This record gives sequence, structure tokens and C-alpha cells, in this order.
Amino acid sequence: MMHAASPRVLIIYTGGTIGMVENPVTKSLHPFDFSALSAQVPELAQLDVHLDTYSVSEPIDSSNMNPDLWGQLAQLIFDRYENYDGFVVLHGSDTMAYTASALTFMFENLNKPVILTGSQLPIGMIRTDGKENLISAIEIASARQMGSPIVAEVAVYFENQLYRGNRTHKHNAEQFEAFQSPNYPILAEAGIRIIYNTNALRPCNQLELKVHTQFDTQVGVITVFPGITEAWFSHLLSAPGIKAFVLRTFGSGNTPSQPWFLQLLQSAIERGIIILNVTQCAVGQVEQGRYETSVGLRDIGIVGGGDLTLEAAVTKLMFLLAQNLSFEECHAQLQRSLRGELTESKND
Ligand code: ASP
Repeated sequence: MMHAASPRVLIIYTGGTIGMVENPVTKSLHPFDFSALSAQVPELAQLDVHLDTYSVSEPIDSSNMNPDLWGQLAQLIFDRYENYDGFVVLHGSDTMAYTASALTFMFENLNKPVILTGSQLPIGMIRTDGKENLISAIEIASARQMGSPIVAEVAVYFENQLYRGNRTHKHNAEQFEAFQSPNYPILAEAGIRIIYNTNALRPCNQLELKVHTQFDTQVGVITVFPGITEAWFSHLLSAPGIKAFVLRTFGSGNTPSQPWFLQLLQSAIERGIIILNVTQCAVGQVEQGRYETSVGLRDIGIVGGGDLTLEAAVTKLMFLLAQNLSFEECHAQLQRSLRGELTESKND
């Protein structure tokens, strides 16, 4: 099926359920030898795609993913960027939304598809969702129209849908349909054919790819809840070394309005700490000032995170902190959509 001009796709295995097989005796799951992928998925031979595979030396459960490994993954793709038309990254689903978000920030001027996928059941199991996810992800990573890739961005493919990487969230630990893109349309849907939502896809540009592999992990996440005590809130905000917090607020960005609550936030900001307000709601955006219970937040200099997911908020902060920007420039970049992670008009 393959020709000299067939698109070239590199499959990178980082770990996760998709690449595991069950030990017939112990029944436990362990990663299989990835060079034997075609034995697990013989259907791959029918694709008109030149496939290469690369397995990291120590595949992991994605709960052990971290910013150093994000950087290594981005570098690996960057070093092979010219040799392939697209990349498929096999990754555990648990933290896939974080890795996908981080990859979007690391790549500036990405003009090829980087498609993350995985599965809820190992690829060797009879009812696996892994085969369809892998085969469709390869098809998307190799899809071209008039000589250009159709998808020129980092995206997640799972259970028939393609999502923008930095808009995804894992919302279901049981069902095959594990991901959602709560505030951005799906990029493509796989039925009998793969239908691309061309209006939602990022356009290609002709600029040279740059990679930024540094992250600063001095970031905290604080979830506000009714009854939160002054002692607990103060303890979190004074964590040593932390440079920025994601504040997970109610509804459209609201919090308790007791004076101590705002005073603790204000003194953190005066110490140079950046605070980014994102909503605890699954869908929707922060609009500071819409309710009285968020006016004070805006007035003391908390940044409204608009419709950022938590995953995009955390990785964007880690990314921006590593750029050594001034406090003001960091604020400005947080309110700007750098890689399509934010709907700017909805942000305050
Ligand atoms: N715990 C696994 C992981 O994230 C689950 C999966 O692969 O989907 O690596």
C-alpha cells in the first residue's frame, strides 16, 4: 500500500494503558515491546503511510509525567520535525490534557500535526478502544490538503473526536469517551469519514518552528470552597517559593468577600505573586466584575483567566514564569491567547 511519496508519521510511545498487554498468568498490565507494534495492530499495514516508532526508554503511567519529560518530548519532536509529516504521541489519558497543553506552549509556529492519543483498554485486549484511536490518529497526522497539513497544531484524539490540545479535560475515568473540550468546538469528528471543522483549526504560517522546553514549577492551585478558613487560605498563599497561583473560583469568577480573604490575596500580589482566576465550573468563563463578589478581585490585580481550562492555566503559568518576564508582561500574556488556549473576547 505504501509509495515513496506516502506521508511519514512518527509514533512516539511515552507509556499509558494503550501500550500495555496483560500478563496471561498474573493478569497485571505491563508495556509491550513497541518495535512489535505491527504484531499488535496488523491493520497498520493497510495504511498508505510510512510509519516509524520510537519508544521512550522507560514508559510511564502518565500520573508520573512531569515538566522535564514534557521538555524531552518536545525536543524529541523538534529534532525530527523535518523528517516527518506528522507525529502521534501515545500517552496515558490521566494527564494527557496537561501534556497536550504544555506542548502547545512549547512549540512556537508549529505547522505540522502532533496528535496525542491513548486508550482506556490496552491495545492487546479484544474490546480495546486503542486500535481505533491509534489508526485514526495516524490518519489525522498524515492528512494533507493541497500540499499542506490539515491539522497544524497539537491536538488530542479520543473516541471519534479531535480536540485542540490546550482546550481538553479528562472528564470520565470509566467510559471510552474520556475527554471534553468544554469551551472550544471539536476540531474533527471521525465517522465513516473524518470530517474536519476547518473554521476551528489553527491556520498554518510560514514561520520557522521554535521550541521552548523550560518550565518553572513554582505554581500552586487553590480551590475556594464555602467555609474556607483564614488559616488555611493564608497557609496556602504563603507556601515558600511559590511565584503564581491558579485560584479556582465559583461560577463566573466569584469568591467569598470577607475582608480577610481579599487582604490575604492583596498582600500576596504585593509580594509579586501572580494570581490567575479560573472557574471551578466545567463549562464557561471568568468575568471579573460581573458580580459584586468578583469586583474586589479585579481591583486588587487578580488576572481573569477567561475560559482557560485548569490544565492550560497551570501549564501556561509554568511556561511564562520560565520566560523571566516582568510582572506586567506576564499579566499581559496571561490575558492574550498565545496558542488558541483562550477566547480573548470573553476575558476581562
Ligand atoms: N493511568 C493510565 C495513565 O494515565 C491511564 C491511561 O493510560 O489511560 O497512564
